[in-house]
Parts: sequence; structure tokens; C-alpha cells
Amino acid sequence: MAEHGTVFGAMLQEFEGAARILNLDKGLWQMLTHPKRQIIVSCPVQMDNGEIEVFTGYRVQYNITLGPAKGGIRYHPGVTLDEVTALAAWMTWKCAVAQLPFGGGKGGVICDPTKMSRRELEALTRRYTAEIIDAIGPDKDVPAPDVNTNEQVMAWFSDTYSMHVGHTSTAVVTGKPVEMGGSLGRREATGRGVMITARESARHLGFSLEGATVAVQGFGNVGGTAASLLSAQGAIIVGVTDWKGGVYNAKGLDTRALLAHVAQHKTVAGFAGGEPLAADDLFGLPVDILIPAALENQITEANAGRIQAKLVVEGANGPTTPAANRMLHERGVFVVPDILANGGGVTVSYFEWVQDRHGYFWSEKEVNERLETKMVQAFDAVLQTAQRYKVDMRTAAYIVAINRVATVTRMRGMYA
Ligand code: NAD
Repeated sequence: MAEHGTVFGAMLQEFEGAARILNLDKGLWQMLTHPKRQIIVSCPVQMDNGEIEVFTGYRVQYNITLGPAKGGIRYHPGVTLDEVTALAAWMTWKCAVAQLPFGGGKGGVICDPTKMSRRELEALTRRYTAEIIDAIGPDKDVPAPDVNTNEQVMAWFSDTYSMHVGHTSTAVVTGKPVEMGGSLGRREATGRGVMITARESARHLGFSLEGATVAVQGFGNVGGTAASLLSAQGAIIVGVTDWKGGVYNAKGLDTRALLAHVAQHKTVAGFAGGEPLAADDLFGLPVDILIPAALENQITEANAGRIQAKLVVEGANGPTTPAANRMLHERGVFVVPDILANGGGVTVSYFEWVQDRHGYFWSEKEVNERLETKMVQAFDAVLQTAQRYKVDMRTAAYIVAINRVATVTRMRGMYA
């Protein structure tokens, strides 16, 4: 096998554990560990100072056996082809676990959006869209927001694509503003899915969310929504940290007031309804549930031994290193893996794509009810697989995903 960078290497380690148990044949193993298509483009942009800067962009379509590629676009100085490929692979497994008719894709542009004007970001988005336009479309590849891209970026993306094809195409991206074909409930969908999988896990482990204590790393879209919804179910959010600091209250933090504080100060630090909490102390808190909802590689060999929670629900993508995952498993901690726990976002993206193609839009209640059904089905399938093969939930989620993609690959047969 070719040399791999660290992020894709971590994905391969997770894949291997499940593929061995499935006794996956060599040919399928090869097919499912190679990206179908990796596109590299150069995007020249005239900057506000009149000079031209060339940005490198990627779009990886990892696997499209189950349907069009699906996955976000990231704007970040640290974007690499290795990372985009790993994220595209994770999208493949996430869509398969959620039983969505999508493959996996991901995009990224090496840039620092914090140093760019709105006009420069718009120009970059339009040029990047134009450079990959032959590869995308509602039946081919449907992007969405990711780190540092948002509803506005999706609006520019959709407009550029529509101008090229000569008609308005809403279904080419998801995560759009609701006014132009976005779905109600999309913004809260990932956090809602985290709450649903936490609730189902607690039920399986024999405790109730009512009165359960929770620690959350990251209080953005995923962490903030998950904390609010868990609190509404009677859970007690005792600790929260983010990029700048943390806050602790043994009696429970008022999540509504904390969200208002973050809206104003961009951090949970300094919140009057609790005492300061050091970032690393979050992991050792005596809580029932721990939710990493910030970045990758946060639960490591250095802190996994201190984790007291009996349930970890991965809101973020890749928050636990493979070594830390083994440590948690040996200690009997129940870990709901990212490709199951944070699948609520792509599930409602799927609902958005369906609504756009029908030109008929659902109420928020309908969206949330359908999300509830999908998440519970996915959770049950993974739990049953974990019990059947006597493996942890991460390996079980991979078994479910690989099995679904492999089965359809066999049915379709080999083209030429
Ligand atoms: P966000 O930008 O809204 O929030 C990120 C949060 O993490 C913020 O509170 C930020 O302060 C905090 N953070 C940043 N650096 C940190 C650090 N070093 N230590 C502690 N906290 C830190 O992002 P989000 O959309 O909530 O995404 C969070 C994670 O969930 C990411 O891994 C993302 O890929 C994943 N995810 C998001 C979605 C979605 O729909 N938004 C879907 C699936 C997965």
C-alpha cells in the first residue's frame, strides 16, 4: 500500500479493524481504501490590493457507490490533500451508517479566511466552484459547509453553479440559507443527533438523561446545541470549555444564558454563572457523559486515563486518537463514534437535497421527527452489530458501513 499521511492513516487503522472481522476480500479492501477521484485546482484571485494570489483547492470524491458524493468544503491554512481524503472517507462511512443514498466527498482550499475581505472570499468561492464545476452537481457531488464556510459561502457556490448551467439549481449544495432552498432544522441537526445518540446510549447503559451530569468541549454549533437539548431533557451541564477557557458549575450551567454570553464575547470564559475551568481539567471531571465537540485529536493517551465518564459521544470529527480509543474500550467506557454520533448534520443535508429536488418544503417539526427516526435506526443497527460481533461501537459502525458499501459494490459488479 502507498505511503499515507497521518489523518488518512488513522482512518485506515479504524477501517482495518472492521474489515478484518468482516473477512473482506482483497479486491474490495483495495477498492474501499483508495479514493475514487482526487481533484487539485489552482484558483487565481485578484485581491483587494490589486495583486493576484493563487490558492490551491481540493475536492476528493472518495466513493460514489451508494449515490452522489456528499461532504463539506473547508477553508483553512492547514488544509492538505491527506486531510481532505480522510474526511471524504469518513463521509462515505457516515452516509452509509445513516443509510443515506450518498457516497463520501470533501473539499478544501488552503487559505486564511480571517485575513480575507468578504469580496475576496466571494471571488475565491466563485473561482473554486468554477474550477471543479465539471465534477459537481445534484447527481454527482453535493458540497456543504465545513470549518470556516457558512450559509453565505453556499449561496455564492449555488449561484456560480446556476450561472454556469443556465438555470437555478438549489440541490447542488446543502447548508444554504432557508430563503434559497435550505432546510429548517439544518443548523441544529448535528447537535440534535448528538443528543439523540446520548439518550439512546444512556438507555442502553441503564441510566436516564434526567439528572445525568455532562461535560462538553466546544460550545459552537454542535456543542452549544447538544448542551441545550440535553439540558432540556433534564441533564445537568456542569463543565464547558472552548478555545479560550472554560466554566464549571456543579449545580449545572444555565445553557441559555451561556449561549447569550458566547454570542456577545465569542467564548464561554468569563461567564458569571460558574467558576473558571482549565481546558484540560474538563476531561477528568466526575461526569456521566463527556461530549468532545471541538476539534480532532483531543482525547489522547495523555488524558484518556483520567476520563471518568461512562459515556463519550463524539460530536466532533476524529476527536479520539486510535490509542486513546483502545484505552477507553479496555476501561469499559461506551464511546459513540463520530460517524454515528454526528451524522445528524448530513442526514438533514440529505433532507434538504430531497426537498430541493421536489420543490416542496417540510416544517421544522417534520424535519426533526424524520431525523429522530433516522438516528434511532442508525444507533440500533450499530448497537446490534456491536453485540453480535462483541466489538466496540466504533468498530461496529465501520462494520455496518463497510458491509453496506461492499454489498452494493458486489451487486453492481465490476465495470470493464
Ligand atoms: P464551531 O466553529 O461552531 O464550534 C467549534 C467550537 O470549538 C467553538 O466553541 C470553539 O471555541 C471550540 N474550540 C476551538 N478550538 C478549540 C480548542 N483548541 N480547545 C477547545 N475548544 C476549541 O464548529 P462546529 O460546527 O460546532 O463543529 C465542531 C466539530 O463538529 C468539528 O469537528 C466539526 O467537523 C464537527 N461536525 C460539525 C458538523 C456541523 O454540522 N456543524 C457536522 C458534523 C461534524
